[in-house]
Amino acid sequence: MSELDLTLRLPERIRGLAKLAYNFFWSWRPEARHIFRTLDIRLWRESRHNPVKMLATASLELLQQAAEDPAYLRLYDLVMLRYEAEVAGEGTWFRSKYGTFPAPIAYFSAEYGLHISLPVYAGGLGILAGDFLKSCSDLGVPVVGVGLIYSQGYVRQRLREDGWQEDVEEIMDRTYDPIQQVLGEEGQPLVVQVPLFDPPVYVGVWKVAVGRISLYLMDTNLEANQPWDRGITQRLYASDPELRLRQEIVLGMGGVRVLRALKIVPSVLHLNEGHPAFAVFERIHERVKRGSSFQEAADQVSAGTVFTTHTPVAAGTDVFPFSLMDRYFHSYFRELSADRDTVLNLGTSPVDPGAGFNMTAFALRLSHFRNAVSKRHGEIARRIWAPLWPDRKPEEAPIEAITNGVHLPSWIEPTRMQEQFDRALGPDWRDKQDQPETWEGVDRIPDAVLWHIHQDFKVTLVARIMERARKRWHRDRLSGASVIALGAMLNPEVLTLGFARRFTPYKRPELLFTDMERLKRLLTNQRYPVQIIFSGKAHPADLEGKHLVQRVFRWAQEAEFAGRIAFVENYDQQLAKYLVHGVDVWLNNPLPPLEASGTSGMKAAANGTPNLSILDGWWIEGYNGANGWAFGGEPKEGDRTAADANALYNILEDQVIPSYYERSEDEVPHSFVGIMKESIRSVAPRFSGQRMAKEYVERFYLPILLGK
Ligand SMILES: *Cc1c(COP(=O)(O)O)cnc(C)c1O
Repeated sequence: MSELDLTLRLPERIRGLAKLAYNFFWSWRPEARHIFRTLDIRLWRESRHNPVKMLATASLELLQQAAEDPAYLRLYDLVMLRYEAEVAGEGTWFRSKYGTFPAPIAYFSAEYGLHISLPVYAGGLGILAGDFLKSCSDLGVPVVGVGLIYSQGYVRQRLREDGWQEDVEEIMDRTYDPIQQVLGEEGQPLVVQVPLFDPPVYVGVWKVAVGRISLYLMDTNLEANQPWDRGITQRLYASDPELRLRQEIVLGMGGVRVLRALKIVPSVLHLNEGHPAFAVFERIHERVKRGSSFQEAADQVSAGTVFTTHTPVAAGTDVFPFSLMDRYFHSYFRELSADRDTVLNLGTSPVDPGAGFNMTAFALRLSHFRNAVSKRHGEIARRIWAPLWPDRKPEEAPIEAITNGVHLPSWIEPTRMQEQFDRALGPDWRDKQDQPETWEGVDRIPDAVLWHIHQDFKVTLVARIMERARKRWHRDRLSGASVIALGAMLNPEVLTLGFARRFTPYKRPELLFTDMERLKRLLTNQRYPVQIIFSGKAHPADLEGKHLVQRVFRWAQEAEFAGRIAFVENYDQQLAKYLVHGVDVWLNNPLPPLEASGTSGMKAAANGTPNLSILDGWWIEGYNGANGWAFGGEPKEGDRTAADANALYNILEDQVIPSYYERSEDEVPHSFVGIMKESIRSVAPRFSGQRMAKEYVERFYLPILLGK
């Protein structure tokens, strides 16, 4: 399917829908989303919210009816006008402040979480990259994205009755993906050769429209490639080190060549995490070919490179054995006019120089601006990487902090909540989302209105979870206990905690189970019960993570917990939305200081779902004493599990539960709603994608663009 094919299928009067369907702009504008939903809600759900698929499979009668329906056409005209004004319009923040720059910023990332209809993300890193592109689009920042498209996406999680996570692989049917193949000059699909491979490897290129921004995704699944090579981009984060190296060569070096083939000459290279860092080699190579020495070229390239590190956890960094590097790079050293050791030493980690080529160390050495993703993570990253700058004091290592943010128009519930914001904050709150004054208006929403909207979201969430549990009961004949563990006994009137994140030891999903008796008392209290919704995948190779999933699921099956623990399968971007809109309190208790930032709590807070979180990552900056609850601020040596669990139980018993259940005559818990409002007011502006994107522009991109 292409946009042209889809256009030709539509009645003349509503042909613009094809353009809209192929631009994710629709996904963060409520009225644009509405225009697809209202066409046929059943088809909309069946297509899994993919407008390309929906329009391609809708009956011609249905489309014709819409094209003749005056109410539909009024909406259509309005949406298309906005689309033209915002996607093609020139009145952007960036343009009005800084004018035009012919050379864009090239943003490289191994994953992008834009929407469930394009599953090329695994988790937080990808969602952040997606939110970043959307925020840049809103602001008119001239960015192009580069990444990979995976033929199997990330794994789908299905739990067995014994709680073991099965990783179900799904082959993506590309027919209706909201992406378009990039064509070469003669109209044939563009094919670009990636360096280093013998036999050669080629990539095809797909373009994704994200508002004003183009994202180019590469794919090795081509006839021209050997069978083994076709699978390079099969799966996100392959566990095999060689396959991983091959992916990263394609991502970084192939990516630079694709931009060259498209005649895009970037002014800045932004590496989102270490995976795409080989791009730097290819940029150096370009200059060496034009006559620079290796050192000159490396200096020039790094002067235009920005690197963002996302985790202090060692498993988040790729380290490739030198022997593996030699196998792929042996003849490239000469092309860079450098000797082997000069090149490979760029990737040695001062912490463990013999371990291999460390992508984070490499990216840190070869970039001009480097940043961590929260203030605390900045301190930690400077401490970890200080040995790279032996003549500086450790705390002066040149790694700055730009705290993550989330794309508010994507994460704030699009119908009733955004409508309330339109009314209370003024219709232009999206444009002014990073100004604290914008959010003062939250007080104009009556407590009872905010409360009831939120409770309705919870009812919807619980209904969705129950439908999923019902499907598995019906299809797989699970035991009653398993159906209950999947959420069949959830009750929307009960105080609901949400814990949804990757299942891996440092996130400590078991912390609440430290004192079983105390937890049971909390959950089964007759007057003031609590329920907990868990969700999250373990990486397919993370056995410890899979055991965590299993243990939580098995507890959820236990009658002692009275059906008040649910584990919802297959955490993804859509489920994340339902959860942050619908649970009452967002729980986070990782082992400090390992949470670099965390972003799901920001999404929750902006929807009026307060955080109950350990003081780590973004929450150290976000918590203000009135917008949620915090614990675990004191550094502790040794095992801190018991102390943290105790602090968590105390806050629940003494503060969260009383404020939730304390109802006034109007049956609204005003003190709890006060915390909800403070949560929106204090978190939305400071942790908005717009604030984040502006910081990257003003602190990093502009100094490079202006040669400062
Ligand atoms: C936001 C999000 C994440 C990241 O959240 P953390 O708080 O960093 O764990 C992961 N997965 C999905 C699907 C998300 O939406």
